[in-house]
Amino acid sequence: MPRNTPFTQPAPQLANQYTDDRVLRSYLARTLPPSVLRDIEPQLTEMGGLAGGPLYGFQLDDRLNFPQHTVFDPWGSRVDRIEVSPLWRAAEQLAARHGLIAIPYERANGAWSRVHQFALAYLFTASTDVYNCPLAMSDGAACALSLSGNESLMQRALPHLTARDPAEFWTSGQWMTESTGGSDVGLTETVARHDSDGSWRLHGRKWFTSAVTSQMALTLARPEGNSAGAKGLALFYLETRDRQGRLDHIVVHRLKDKLGTRKVPTAELTLEGTRAVPVQGLHDGVKHIAPMLNITRTWNSVSAIAYMRRGIALARDYARKRVAFGAPLAEKPLHLDTLAGMQAEFEAALHLTFFLVELIGRDEVGQLASNERDLLRLLTPIVKLTTAKQSVAVVSEALECFGGAGYVEDTGLPMLLRDSQVFPIWEGTTNVLSLDALRAINSGTAFEALGSLLQDFAQSVTEPRLLTVARQAQEAFARAGRWLEGAAANGSQVVEAGARRFALTLGRALSLALLARHAQWASDNERDERPLAAALRFSRHGVDLISAAEDVGMSRSLALD
Ligand SMILES: Cc1cc2nc3c(=O)[nH]c(=O)nc-3n(C[C@H](O)[C@H](O)[C@H](O)COP(=O)(O)OP(=O)(O)OC[C@H]3O[C@@H](n4cnc5c(N)ncnc54)[C@H](O)[C@@H]3O)c2cc1C
Repeated sequence: MPRNTPFTQPAPQLANQYTDDRVLRSYLARTLPPSVLRDIEPQLTEMGGLAGGPLYGFQLDDRLNFPQHTVFDPWGSRVDRIEVSPLWRAAEQLAARHGLIAIPYERANGAWSRVHQFALAYLFTASTDVYNCPLAMSDGAACALSLSGNESLMQRALPHLTARDPAEFWTSGQWMTESTGGSDVGLTETVARHDSDGSWRLHGRKWFTSAVTSQMALTLARPEGNSAGAKGLALFYLETRDRQGRLDHIVVHRLKDKLGTRKVPTAELTLEGTRAVPVQGLHDGVKHIAPMLNITRTWNSVSAIAYMRRGIALARDYARKRVAFGAPLAEKPLHLDTLAGMQAEFEAALHLTFFLVELIGRDEVGQLASNERDLLRLLTPIVKLTTAKQSVAVVSEALECFGGAGYVEDTGLPMLLRDSQVFPIWEGTTNVLSLDALRAINSGTAFEALGSLLQDFAQSVTEPRLLTVARQAQEAFARAGRWLEGAAANGSQVVEAGARRFALTLGRALSLALLARHAQWASDNERDERPLAAALRFSRHGVDLISAAEDVGMSRSLALD
């Protein structure tokens, strides 16, 4: 007689990540013209099938393959060869073939091309081990070069960055951070020297260069003789390898040993006379790289929601399979309450992110009025910082939904948390972006534009409970405005100290208003009350962080003494 076989827990599984995603599908159905949706849906279904099926399996199998840096060849020549994981190699091919960078530049669907691209990127991201990082920078570089007016660089690099043929496809790095500062890039020490032959060569150390396998990079350097600070920096284009395929006067010291994003080869390197070309004059490099940052920050927001969605999709499936105290977790009211809270945060973040994506798409075809452009300037940092924080919280909760299994590496779950922890750090930390949001408000009409938007959304809902939450969003916004006025009267220290609470209040208020608008539409057009439940739940989580503003002096002694 066989002995009792021990209990084996069925693993969580993923369905097609497009067809199974009620929130994305409902958003697209409301937003896109039917002809555009019909056009792109087969591709979304295909990507959703890959992401929930073979790519997810590949990702689990590839778990222990990390980038390898070979410093010397067998005969002692310095080669700095970097091999990425098999999944990364496959992800590159897939990204090129699906046009993940090409779509918004081909612009086949006009203003909706960005929604198309980012819906696809959202599906692709959680199954490809942060390959979204080089994609974000490549898209950012394509955008910055397109706006630079530098025809020769555009002709050289854009066909590669937007190629659909993997053999032609290039990715770009974004080399800004030095050990002196990633936030305060005005401290950049890299120097650009003008050679006697008229070419520029860069000398300096870059402290974080992600996806160092890229064929090109946009970077900051100070032309010799320029003033200190951000204004004296110029934006440079460089190609990492020479015609023989050797690194062009670049020495890779090591790959960073990181908490997460471990599949991304992030290097510390020195430029020892690397050839480079100024992209747009010899000053104001930080200003000229801003279009790149706007795009990479948006990729960050899209990635943040992709990770939330992945954590929730796995936790949901597991809730149906895992039995505790005589019933599946899916029948335990408290577990369901936990999942509902995560889902509400995710739905809010998705609507917030895709609203930003819509603005970018409309901007690129010249459809934005000047106050909407100001709004886009404000929302880029707000959406990035809001969704990044949500992602870490939701993914952390998702791991807890698996109990001990959520903490065990070969489930693939811990990687989700480690990877999402980077979202609030790179592309501008929460504090740095909060201060950027204040600059955006001070330099245009964005705040007023946001107020009008919240009013429009409140007017677009009729369901009494949705009306209440839309007003809650307006009230939080109004209180934020009053706080800003009062704080400004008390000096810049008071404004700075409250900047994060202020920015998060704007992000959460807009999220709530967007949820309310969508819930009204879903109720009217899809007879679906779940978006309404999400709006009500999100409103109870709270949107107004201003009311908790602290005293600056007390914070100082609490923080440091
Ligand atoms: C995995 C990974 C990959 C990366 N890849 C790249 C890359 O490819 N290219 C690149 O250029 N960089 C890259 N970075 C660097 C990243 O962008 C920086 O780490 C980030 O911008 C923060 O800069 P820092 O590390 O110098 O921190 P600091 O600027 O020293 O910040 C430290 C702390 O101070 C806070 N702070 C700073 N200024 C203020 C202020 N005025 N008021 C209040 N608080 C403030 C910050 O919020 C943060 O909490 C990468 C980082 C990571 C983790």
